[in-house]
Amino acid sequence: MHFCQRCDDPIAMAPDGDLAVCPDCGHTEPARRLPLFVVTGASGSGKTAVLPHLVRGLPECLVFDGDWLIGPFERACEFGEVDWPALRDAWLSVAHGAAQSGRHTVLLAPFTREQLDGLAGRRWVTDVHVAVLDCADDVRAARLEARLRWRERAIERHLAFAAHLRATAGTVVRTDDGPPEESARRVAEWVRAHIG
Ligand SMILES: [Zn+2]
Repeated sequence: MHFCQRCDDPIAMAPDGDLAVCPDCGHTEPARRLPLFVVTGASGSGKTAVLPHLVRGLPECLVFDGDWLIGPFERACEFGEVDWPALRDAWLSVAHGAAQSGRHTVLLAPFTREQLDGLAGRRWVTDVHVAVLDCADDVRAARLEARLRWRERAIERHLAFAAHLRATAGTVVRTDDGPPEESARRVAEWVRAHIG
C-alpha cells in the first residue's frame, strides 16, 4: 500500500503508529490509522434497508455498502470471477485512505473478522470492530423469497452463514423488532461508543 519513494526498488513500508516506515532506508511518511467498523450480516439481514439511515445518522463517518465494489471487480477480474480477498483488501485500503482525512469508515458488508485478518491492508487500520445485523430465520427466509428474481436467493446457505455470525460476532443488532431507522440508530450508537 505504501511504497518507499526514496528506495530504487519497490519496498513495502511498514506501519509504526501514524507513520509508514521503510524497512530499508528508514524513510517515513504520514499514514494515519483509525479503526474500521464492519456491519456484517448474511443476506436478508437488512443491510440495504439500514444503509440510508446509517448514512444520515453518522455524518461524521464515511458509510459504504461493500457491494459497491463488486461491479468494478467483476470487470477487473479475469473471466468475471470476483477475487473476494482482493475486494475485501480494497475496502481496507479505502478505510486507510479515509483515515488520512480523519474519517472513520463504516462498511456494511457480509465480511467476517477472520476474512480481513491476514490481508495486506489489515495492518493499515487499527482495530476492526464487527457488529452483525440479525433477524429470525423465518423473517430472513421471507425477505429472501420476496427478492427480485435477479438477486440471488440461496436461502439455506444464507441461514447457515447467519447462524455462524450470530455465534461469533460480539455485537448483535436486530432488524426484525423495529423499523430500519431504529436498527441504524443502534449501529450509530455502537460506532460512537468506540470513537467518542
Ligand atoms: Zn526506502
